[in-house]
Amino acid sequence: MTCKASFVFSDAFLNYHFHSDHPFNQKRVLLAKELLEASDTLSVSDIIEPRMATEEELALFHDKAYINAVKKASIGNLSEEEGLEYGLGTEDTPIFKNMHEASSYLVGGTLAAVDAVLQGNSLHALNLGGGLHHGFKRKASGFCVYNDGAVAIKYIREKYNLRVLYVDTDAHHGDGVQWAFYDDPNVCTFSIHETGRYLFPGTGNVNERGIKEGHGFSFNLPIDAFTEDESFIQVYESAFKEIADFYKPDIIITQNGADAHTHDPLTHLCGTMEIYQRIPELAHELAHQYCDGKWVALGGGGYDIWRVVPRAWSQIWNVMKNSNVKLGSIPESWLSKWQKKAPVTLPTTWQDSENIVPTIPRKAEISEKNYKILLSALKYTKNKI
Ligand SMILES: [Zn+2]
Ligand SMILES: [Zn+2]
Repeated sequence: MTCKASFVFSDAFLNYHFHSDHPFNQKRVLLAKELLEASDTLSVSDIIEPRMATEEELALFHDKAYINAVKKASIGNLSEEEGLEYGLGTEDTPIFKNMHEASSYLVGGTLAAVDAVLQGNSLHALNLGGGLHHGFKRKASGFCVYNDGAVAIKYIREKYNLRVLYVDTDAHHGDGVQWAFYDDPNVCTFSIHETGRYLFPGTGNVNERGIKEGHGFSFNLPIDAFTEDESFIQVYESAFKEIADFYKPDIIITQNGADAHTHDPLTHLCGTMEIYQRIPELAHELAHQYCDGKWVALGGGGYDIWRVVPRAWSQIWNVMKNSNVKLGSIPESWLSKWQKKAPVTLPTTWQDSENIVPTIPRKAEISEKNYKILLSALKYTKNKI
């Protein structure tokens, strides 16, 4: 089966750039795009241009005062004191020239993806430049200035009045999006992430279930450090299927941070490409089952930009376009172009070799713990598992 899908891209995405030593690097998006082109799965006619989100659109979620602060920072006019009030100018989220424009482009990319799907031009859409899930209403946080996912969901609610299921598989908790809709029963959020005990942002406890009318529509699966493929896939699949069946969304938005891989330098999970094959496959399947195919996928974290992110993100598109992940060899043309620039040896196959994960002695204990968390997370859904 092939589905009509849109791939949002512009070189302007690469302008979202803090400084050369910062781990967040949008070159990942270009690497993924070129890998897809080299694999003949992405063609010019699939690509749609992002637009810059307007200030009115940003204000669907963000405070005007915060937007103004970002604009001032953008032209070097924000005092240090004012900056800190808004989380701007920190080690994680430093100020850079034209940061307002660069950040607005990422949001506009996600809005373009939403419109492509909801105006019926495409069934699925992918914006790898987006997924900045830590952005708060009036504060930048964790490499994120504007929260494109939260703005886009507000936009969907306002313009299309649909019930949204947001699924976040980044290794960090999807806090910004969760808090944005914590009291809203029309938006259900589900985040699977490494437990916040030792990892930023520290939230995402299984007991964070929403408040007021939104109670019961916020799901969290904080899994243990050193979780491997098998356990990750088991709890992700069970939870996503159950939540989709419980909530029956009109559209699914996924945040596809690729930092749960064992090579990722910022986190402690031990996933391999296996999870990055299964994550989009299941999202695709459930989007067709519950939402007539309506699925918008976003990027997110991912700090091994050479060995992990290009393959992981390309698989989302391979699934959107052809319902299948790619297996076998990585195209020679991509390898020969980028190996020269990469500081590490690039993998030559779509799948990882078997020995990349170190032996984890607590494996059985970790899997059992994750399963208990799964049961607890689904305590109030009607079918349970
Ligand atoms: Zn499809
Ligand atoms: Zn992350």
